[in-house]
Amino acid sequence: MLDFRLDEEYEALRKTVEEFAREEVAPVIGGFYEREEFPYDIVAKMGRMGLFGLPFPEEFGGMGGDYFALCLALEELARVDSSVAITLEAGVSLGAMPLFRFGSDEQKRQWLPKLCAGEALGAFGLTEPGGGSDAGALRTTARLDGDEWVLNGTKAFITNSGTDITALVTVAAVTGRKDDGRPEISAVLVPSGTPGFSVSKKYSKVGWNASDTRELSFQDCRVPAANLVGERGRGYAQFLQTLDEGRVAIAALGVGLAQGCVDECVKYAREREAFGHPIGQYQAIRFKIADMEARVHTARLAYYQAASKMLRGEPFKREAAIAKLVSSETAVDNAREAAQIFGGYGFMNEYPVGRFYRDAKILEIGEGTSEVQRMLIARELGL
Ligand SMILES: Cc1cc2nc3c(=O)[nH]c(=O)nc-3n(C[C@H](O)[C@H](O)[C@H](O)COP(=O)(O)OP(=O)(O)OC[C@H]3O[C@@H](n4cnc5c(N)ncnc54)[C@H](O)[C@@H]3O)c2cc1C
Repeated sequence: MLDFRLDEEYEALRKTVEEFAREEVAPVIGGFYEREEFPYDIVAKMGRMGLFGLPFPEEFGGMGGDYFALCLALEELARVDSSVAITLEAGVSLGAMPLFRFGSDEQKRQWLPKLCAGEALGAFGLTEPGGGSDAGALRTTARLDGDEWVLNGTKAFITNSGTDITALVTVAAVTGRKDDGRPEISAVLVPSGTPGFSVSKKYSKVGWNASDTRELSFQDCRVPAANLVGERGRGYAQFLQTLDEGRVAIAALGVGLAQGCVDECVKYAREREAFGHPIGQYQAIRFKIADMEARVHTARLAYYQAASKMLRGEPFKREAAIAKLVSSETAVDNAREAAQIFGGYGFMNEYPVGRFYRDAKILEIGEGTSEVQRMLIARELGL
């Protein structure tokens, strides 16, 4: 059956998040962005709304929803602001999801209720200063010494890793060599504050300025052997699964940003006058906005379809890569056109489109660059 309508529950959630974003995030987030300040109160409210628990079962403090529900929430948040949206995306899809999918019962019981409530944030440490696209070429090591893992290495650009409520980071590390000599990669949970684990000050970033991104360093950092997440040596496969899902979420975030550009431009083009008429009466502007709307509509269909395959349990790697590629390029294109339509005001912090312009670029880079998405799509085609 082909049906792209949202059922009542999805629509109710979408509407609730839309109102929250418009009424509680939009009026204040510009200030947080300019001050490069993490918006703790907004995150706490999102926690009370259940957004961090959306795709998790109630027994772990979740809302019993699914991954598509998370995507809808991300889209509505990103329509107004991407820092808040990426904080939710990384908290759920990179922080909590690997524990839910691969963690032991004890790990789930210990960590998921706090993560689902938004009272604590989890981070996901895969990328290293020496490279992110080649995720198999990790240098960080975790050596088993008695009943403890000893971690050494550095991670770069890790979202949600240094806030006051960050509780843990799941670290990708080399835990040995396989029989064929290739590195054995595993995931190890490191709680915040563990001796030997230090977090740098926040990066100064081009965008996502109200979100938290830091470098992490591990120096003879010891955690119990029971902190292994999933099976030893299965870390690489686990990360690939985490990233496939994360790409659908990032696609939703990109669609939200691109839709936010359309929303702002329609309002502005009706009001702003030049040469005696609202600029929305000029074909050059109308066509730009029509193209923006056509792109965002197409990108939304791409992520809906990837999500529907994911929820049915079918392979969705190709669709996730396509959705992420199309959506992130749409976000960049729409943000560039939106800034153009706003003229000089497009370059001012007073209007959200300047923020959209700065926030869009990272979508073509994070959770797999556009080149990596094209490599995946070509590989899926048998090339
Ligand atoms: C704000 C922000 C937040 C992030 N959050 C996280 C996080 O929470 N956790 C985490 O683990 N990582 C995170 N990242 C890291 C992000 O996923 C990486 O930056 C990204 O995967 C690219 O890796 P890189 O920066 O090392 O670029 P590189 O891998 O060095 O790539 C550089 C360039 O070379 C291209 N390239 C590489 N290999 C090929 C190839 N074979 N063929 C063609 N082109 C190629 C790339 O596409 C890119 O254009 C974050 C990054 C940022 C900026």
